Amino acid sequence: MKCEHEGCERSLLIDCMNPTSEVEDEVTPIISPSTVLVRYYCLYHSQQYGYCWHCGFYAGDEPNFRLGLLGLCKDCHREFASKE
Ligand SMILES: [Zn+2]
Ligand SMILES: [Zn+2]
Repeated sequence: MKCEHEGCERSLLIDCMNPTSEVEDEVTPIISPSTVLVRYYCLYHSQQYGYCWHCGFYAGDEPNFRLGLLGLCKDCHREFASKE
Protein backbone atom coordinates (compact mmCIF):
# COMPACT_ATOMS: atom_id res chain seq x y z
CA MET A 1 0.00 0.00 0.00
CA LYS A 2 1.23 3.44 -0.91
CA CYS A 3 0.41 7.06 -0.20
CA GLU A 4 -2.82 8.10 -1.95
CA HIS A 5 -1.21 11.16 -3.43
CA GLU A 6 -0.78 10.52 -7.12
CA GLY A 7 2.73 9.51 -7.98
CA CYS A 8 3.92 9.24 -4.38
CA GLU A 9 5.83 6.03 -3.67
CA ARG A 10 6.17 6.32 0.08
CA SER A 11 4.73 3.41 2.04
CA LEU A 12 5.02 4.71 5.62
CA LEU A 13 1.48 5.96 5.98
CA ILE A 14 -0.69 7.93 8.37
CA ASP A 15 -4.36 7.04 8.86
CA CYS A 16 -6.01 10.37 8.06
CA MET A 17 -9.56 10.88 9.34
CA ASN A 18 -11.79 12.92 7.12
CA PRO A 19 -13.63 15.77 8.85
CA THR A 20 -17.01 14.47 10.01
CA SER A 21 -18.76 17.51 8.55
CA GLU A 22 -19.04 15.55 5.33
CA VAL A 23 -21.43 13.13 6.96
CA GLU A 24 -24.89 14.24 5.89
CA ASP A 25 -27.12 11.81 7.70
CA GLU A 26 -27.46 13.29 11.18
CA VAL A 27 -30.52 11.23 12.02
CA THR A 28 -28.52 8.07 12.55
CA PRO A 29 -26.32 8.42 15.64
CA ILE A 30 -24.31 5.33 14.89
CA ILE A 31 -21.55 5.91 12.40
CA SER A 32 -21.62 3.14 9.86
CA PRO A 33 -18.33 2.00 8.31
CA SER A 34 -19.24 3.60 5.00
CA THR A 35 -19.33 7.08 6.53
CA VAL A 36 -15.93 6.77 8.18
CA LEU A 37 -13.61 8.00 5.52
CA VAL A 38 -10.00 7.26 6.09
CA ARG A 39 -7.32 8.25 3.68
CA TYR A 40 -3.78 7.03 3.70
CA TYR A 41 -1.06 9.58 3.17
CA CYS A 42 2.63 9.60 3.95
CA LEU A 43 4.11 11.92 6.57
CA TYR A 44 4.78 14.54 3.98
CA HIS A 45 1.46 14.53 2.17
CA SER A 46 -0.68 14.21 5.29
CA GLN A 47 0.54 17.71 6.14
CA GLN A 48 -0.05 18.90 2.59
CA TYR A 49 -3.68 17.82 2.83
CA GLY A 50 -4.17 19.37 6.25
CA TYR A 51 -3.89 16.33 8.49
CA CYS A 52 -1.81 16.09 11.64
CA TRP A 53 0.97 13.59 10.95
CA HIS A 54 0.90 12.39 14.53
CA CYS A 55 -2.76 11.60 15.23
CA GLY A 56 -4.21 11.78 11.70
CA PHE A 57 -7.00 14.19 12.52
CA TYR A 58 -7.81 17.01 10.16
CA ALA A 59 -6.25 20.27 11.29
CA GLY A 60 -6.21 22.24 8.04
CA ASP A 61 -8.71 24.75 9.40
CA GLU A 62 -6.27 25.89 12.03
CA PRO A 63 -4.54 29.01 10.70
CA ASN A 64 -1.15 28.12 12.15
CA PHE A 65 -1.15 24.51 11.00
CA ARG A 66 1.14 24.90 8.02
CA LEU A 67 3.21 27.73 9.39
CA GLY A 68 3.87 27.31 13.06
CA LEU A 69 2.80 23.89 14.24
CA LEU A 70 5.18 21.75 12.16
CA GLY A 71 2.33 19.72 10.70
CA LEU A 72 0.87 18.93 14.08
CA CYS A 73 -2.61 19.72 15.32
CA LYS A 74 -2.87 21.92 18.39
CA ASP A 75 -3.16 19.01 20.81
CA CYS A 76 -0.17 17.11 19.47
CA HIS A 77 1.88 20.28 19.24
CA ARG A 78 1.20 21.00 22.89
CA GLU A 79 2.17 17.44 23.75
CA PHE A 80 5.48 17.73 21.89
CA ALA A 81 6.21 21.17 23.29
CA SER A 82 5.67 20.01 26.86
CA LYS A 83 8.31 17.32 26.52
CA GLU A 84 11.12 19.78 26.16
ZN1 LIG B 1 2.88 10.95 -0.20
ZN1 LIG C 1 -2.55 15.62 16.17
